Amino acid sequence: METLAPGTVECDLPAQSAVGLTPVAQAWTQVPEPLQAAQKAALVERIRELLRRERAVLVAHYYVDADLQELAEATGGCVGDSLEMARFGRDHPADTLVVAGVRFMGETAKILSPRKRILMPDLEATCSLDLGCSPDAFSAWCDAHPGRTVVVYANTSAAVKARADWVVTSSIALDVVADLHARGERILWAPDRHLGDYVQRQTGADMLLWQGACIVHDEFKGTELELLRTDYPQAKVLAHPESPQPVLAQADVIGSTTQLIDAARKLDAASFIVATDQGILYKMREAAPGKTFIAAPTAGNSATCKSCAHCPWMAMNALSNLADVLEHGRNAITLDPELGRLAKKPIDRMLAFADERKQRVRASGDMARDTTLYANVGPA
Ligand code: SF4
Repeated sequence: METLAPGTVECDLPAQSAVGLTPVAQAWTQVPEPLQAAQKAALVERIRELLRRERAVLVAHYYVDADLQELAEATGGCVGDSLEMARFGRDHPADTLVVAGVRFMGETAKILSPRKRILMPDLEATCSLDLGCSPDAFSAWCDAHPGRTVVVYANTSAAVKARADWVVTSSIALDVVADLHARGERILWAPDRHLGDYVQRQTGADMLLWQGACIVHDEFKGTELELLRTDYPQAKVLAHPESPQPVLAQADVIGSTTQLIDAARKLDAASFIVATDQGILYKMREAAPGKTFIAAPTAGNSATCKSCAHCPWMAMNALSNLADVLEHGRNAITLDPELGRLAKKPIDRMLAFADERKQRVRASGDMARDTTLYANVGPA
């Protein structure tokens, strides 16, 4: 297998924003102020009216504020991982989709539904994986490795997707790569190095990895997790595969956000240590009332900084800016139609693969196979 010499790929985040802050520090300055209960109630009522007036539906990610998740469900919208959000937005008859999440999710909605109006609470809500994978550098990397099948994670710009053969989400990455590997294809993978490494270990595929990372999951620490587990020996560890390998090696379940919520509900355990964005705890507590959820450690002797395990770009979504964009029709996603057409192909390929796999599972009657959850139980 080819190895990638460190530093051969330009994948670091831009050092500073235009106002001299790192992108992460900049994002935290743009997180709306918390609201009082009465303000929240008034905004929720206003948003309900505006969703009706605009014939709009709210599509929210598990990592956004619990108020937004609750509102999405109460108004007939959807709360899900990026694959579910993409499917729901594509199939829903609403003229306007309001996407509470990060930029690539809004772009994906526009790619799949070019005639719909796609609004986002804050268009500057991005993702470190997207930021660290510029279309030009990525395209040059693809040019340097002809003959490989290009598989990119959903957390990328439309321009990067347009260059790919496949787009995958964390819920389907293993299955797609296993299938490609079985066909003898060699893979160029971008941008998350931890997810890529996990998929490579699980499938044995020949993969060359871009070296990006999620700033939230990259902070989880294997050594501190070991110590925490001695305090909670009965707790099961649930980890998202964007986490580093020393964390995944200790996980009882490795999976996408939806798969981890499912595990919290189904596994016979009273407590869980959770290595993913803490926004997910709202849904986990709802899915498994009475169980205890403990955040995986991001600090300690091996930490480089104290992280709150919450994505600043997800935190930029709030009731206040959501009401504002609906009221004034601001923050619509626009996309060059030709770029959208090219980016749609690898996304459609993934959705068709997911649909086909679901049907195959139903036909075989093997419903346990409906999720890769239990296939992934055990150390990575
Ligand atoms: S949690 Fe990580 S992967 Fe998700 S949007 Fe934030 S930076 Fe990107």
